[in-house]
Amino acid sequence: MNCPRCDHDVIKTIAKSPVGEVWEVYCCQKCWYSWRSTETPRILAKFLLDDAKIAAMQTIPPVPPLKK
Ligand SMILES: [Zn+2]
Repeated sequence: MNCPRCDHDVIKTIAKSPVGEVWEVYCCQKCWYSWRSTETPRILAKFLLDDAKIAAMQTIPPVPPLKK
């Protein structure tokens, strides 16, 4: 199984249905996209990722420390 967003092949199962083995949730270990086994992810072309796009991503602004 490959990631539907970045095509990476290291996918981790992060959750399973508590009853009946009905679904699982997978998470890509490269871009952190996650999806459920019962859905067919369709990623719009402009949201597909590759190494160049990931390297050029901006970082999330850090949360400043709380005021005392
Ligand atoms: Zn991915």
